[in-house]
Amino acid sequence: MIVLMQFSAAPEQADAVCEAIRGQGLEPLLMPGEHMAIGIPSFIPPELRSSLEGVLGSLPGVSRVQHVSRPYKLASMEWKRQPTTVEVKGVKFGPGHFTVIGGPCSVESYAQYSKAAKMVKAAGAKVVRGGAFKPRTSPYAFQGLAEEGLKIIKQVGEEEGLVTVSEVMSGEAVAMVAKYVDILQIGARSMQNFPLLIEAGRSGKPVFLKRGPSATIDEFLLAAEYVLSQNNEELILCERGIVPLDRSYTRNTLDLASVPVLKEYSHLPVLVDPSHGTGVARYVAPLAKAALVVGADGVMIEMHPDPKSALSDGSQALTPEQFKMLMDDLKVLAKVQGTVM
Ligand code: PEP
Ligand code: MN
Repeated sequence: MIVLMQFSAAPEQADAVCEAIRGQGLEPLLMPGEHMAIGIPSFIPPELRSSLEGVLGSLPGVSRVQHVSRPYKLASMEWKRQPTTVEVKGVKFGPGHFTVIGGPCSVESYAQYSKAAKMVKAAGAKVVRGGAFKPRTSPYAFQGLAEEGLKIIKQVGEEEGLVTVSEVMSGEAVAMVAKYVDILQIGARSMQNFPLLIEAGRSGKPVFLKRGPSATIDEFLLAAEYVLSQNNEELILCERGIVPLDRSYTRNTLDLASVPVLKEYSHLPVLVDPSHGTGVARYVAPLAKAALVVGADGVMIEMHPDPKSALSDGSQALTPEQFKMLMDDLKVLAKVQGTVM
């Protein structure tokens, strides 16, 4: 439920609304925006709903009381009424910008990561990715360099002046990963790791949340709600493909329709990851371009200085030359779309 105040409302009138909400055992939340508003993000028992609406609607200074019809509240467009832009060290994720995150699946060594970052930068991207903790299907596959990898990410990010993003896989590891990287990635497999979502939210760090392979839109936005409910609005969503009908052609089915849907029902920025979305390097560029056209706020692209030798996800990694070509194409499309790259 959201209580919209009149433009002329005095702060004391908003205080009275908050008091009335507390009087019902609920917690009010002052909401930003040009129009003063007070939200009640928690569940309101149905028997209380209409009486509360009547009480709040009749208080002085109140313009109207509005229901939020979706199961997620803080993530909903009804709640915020304007799109969110997440800004990290001057790099913007949000409407009007198309932001590219590039880099290898895993950090393998200083030399590999530094080379990759230089190529990401040379192609014009401002954010470098790379996993130090890798969620692998097999316990025998390369698991990442752990803290050593994070140190490499921090060093290379500073050397190249790039914003960094890397995955954190557990709530306990959030504080450690947050020391080294600018944006905490929560991977598809962890989308419903609720303690991790809460801990990442509490860290106050920007969070990059990937959609689970079998998550519905409601489940995705409810996962986002966990982060937002920790008073952390620095949240970026990422569509990375859902379970496919047929794995013999692509690793996942990239649900590009989720982009306009998410942008309609949520205020959060939405990026697309066509690398994990297809699992095939040659399909990455066409789908990255499609992502831009359907209104994504950016893409995450896996790129490796030498994909053949990659320790993870080599088959979906672009070469530096392919990455540069894609960036050049995206710049042309971004101009047509009227977005800044
Ligand atoms: C990754 O970004 O390297 C990754 C493991 O992605 P996802 O969680 O989408 O599978
Ligand atoms: Mn990967």
